Amino acid sequence: MMQLACSSVHRTLFLSAFSLLAGTTLVRAQADSLDDHKLTEIYTPVPPVVTPGAKLGDAPSDAVILFDGKNLDQWVTVADGSPAKWDVAKDILTVSKTSGNIQTKQTFSNYQLHLEYRIPSNITGEDQARGNSGVFLASTGKGDAGYELQILDNYNNKTYTNGQVGSIYKQSVPLANACRKPGEWQTYDIVWTAPVFGTDGTVASPARATVFHNGVLVQNNFELKGQTRYRGKPYYQAHGASPIKLQAHGDKSEPVSFRNIWVRPL
Ligand code: MG
Repeated sequence: MMQLACSSVHRTLFLSAFSLLAGTTLVRAQADSLDDHKLTEIYTPVPPVVTPGAKLGDAPSDAVILFDGKNLDQWVTVADGSPAKWDVAKDILTVSKTSGNIQTKQTFSNYQLHLEYRIPSNITGEDQARGNSGVFLASTGKGDAGYELQILDNYNNKTYTNGQVGSIYKQSVPLANACRKPGEWQTYDIVWTAPVFGTDGTVASPARATVFHNGVLVQNNFELKGQTRYRGKPYYQAHGASPIKLQAHGDKSEPVSFRNIWVRPL
């Protein structure tokens, strides 16, 4: 019994000493990591050098130029895949409502997109029928299939708030109305994270969009509920890399113009 008791005492002493030592070692390790700033510094891989545009909004050196005022070589008509027939004049691109939506030849997954648009100063109409266009962040088929970021003149024009400019159409009300007047050029800067689908077609991770309208944050990493629908709820259907599409909306108001469109695949 005596021997056992001694053993027990020794074990307790040993464990206490060990704990003390371990604690000291831990404290020492923490102190060492605080002393050595290099332990928390990363040197490789080195991010690529990207030369920014001369002024904010100009394409940086690694951008894919989708429209620079010269031609529509990067675009096709959605309906039949023929060359895009919107009007190019004086370095700007104007919607042709008779020829319908256009989309990029190239497909994209995650990207940063910049574009500029102008509602004409002689715009007429109201509600959704006043300078309606849109950017489909991924075009998943003919017509308006895809995920639409709305373009609309809401300078002095009311409509349902989840359908005004800056909305993910019928999904997400913009955080602000940052409209400029008709006749003035306006900017969209967009970060698109494409949805990811499992092999069985289910959504592994939903799409996300961050949008600045004229430099003002209007969508903050919004998680999309699916593709845009005019009637009914948004839905997901598996797809891969997709074109970016611009909308020729069927309303009777004067057509919207675009310029300076570029994208940086991420
Ligand atoms: Mg639209």
